[in-house]
Amino acid sequence: MYAEAGVAPAVEEITLDAPGANEVQVRVEASGVCHTDLHVVETGGWGMPFPILLGHEGAGIVEEVGADVTSVAPGDRVVIAWRAPCGDACPACRRGDPRRCSNNLRGRRRAHRADGDLLTPVLRCGTFADSAIVHEACAVKVPEELPVEQACLLACGFSTGAGAALWATPVREGASVAVIGCGGVGLAVVQGARLAGAERIVAIDIAPEKLQLARELGATDAVTAEDSVAQVRELTGGVDYAFTAIGAPSGLVDAVRMCAYGGTATLVGVPPPGRVLEVDLELDLFHPKVGIAVTHGGDTIPQEDFPFLARAALDGKIDLERFVTKIVSLDEAAAALDELHAPTGVRTVVRF
Ligand SMILES: [Zn+2]
Ligand SMILES: [Zn+2]
Repeated sequence: MYAEAGVAPAVEEITLDAPGANEVQVRVEASGVCHTDLHVVETGGWGMPFPILLGHEGAGIVEEVGADVTSVAPGDRVVIAWRAPCGDACPACRRGDPRRCSNNLRGRRRAHRADGDLLTPVLRCGTFADSAIVHEACAVKVPEELPVEQACLLACGFSTGAGAALWATPVREGASVAVIGCGGVGLAVVQGARLAGAERIVAIDIAPEKLQLARELGATDAVTAEDSVAQVRELTGGVDYAFTAIGAPSGLVDAVRMCAYGGTATLVGVPPPGRVLEVDLELDLFHPKVGIAVTHGGDTIPQEDFPFLARAALDGKIDLERFVTKIVSLDEAAAALDELHAPTGVRTVVRF
């Protein structure tokens, strides 16, 4: 699955080098179709060099390991993380705060087109392919009992949403929460907030069927997008945490205005380029003492958090099954990306 400037993504034969030191080759079994891949296509590569190999929400089986690999072995079921804190090479990791690491461990680029050109895998994953070579730290072991089409969601979408509420801006037990936008990521915020013990979770969306799903996944209240700030304030008096999982800046403005005194508004997901936030510094931020936070992928530590979430799913504390609403083949992946313009389900997963 490959994207070149101005050309529609298409499937073609690729070859892989052998995994190098600290790298593992994973036979991809499932890969979720995440909006960020569409973003890569629509922003002309998102700053990455062409040609590009799409896919970054994968899970599969380790099939080969390079030198010095100790944490996984062939046959292990792994989720492929695109975040892997460096551990000791950046100031955040050195002070013991790997969730703020900006220096992720990466494997070398190992995939080639038939003509030999080196491909750039999205977020160094490239999971819209039968096999992917990633850094050992990005191959995170999870229990095999978790169905692989659910496990792959831990790689990006689900962890981004749940992690926003669990780790990026950790929701206190008993707190009140608002979630703007109830697509896959927003619904995962709802699940994360519930797991964190939030007492009140208000879901906001324009689609009634999404609000219904949000209720089934843990939202205590649901409001339509129109006049949602007033509705949320009336229901809760202002929330402790507001999350926006929509790209439009209005989502973050609303999140700020939904917050109670001392609340936090968190931006989840990648916004479209060139958009500007217009808030009143005095009335929206200073007087109500509202903070704005940004999360990248839920600020996860994949080696700890993916097994934690996998266990939570197996124990019935989160419901990954409801997030997989369509399964397609690799040949249908390009169409599935296009469907993200007007999604009808929660998540489409490519099954190999
Ligand atoms: Zn993603
Ligand atoms: Zn680091």
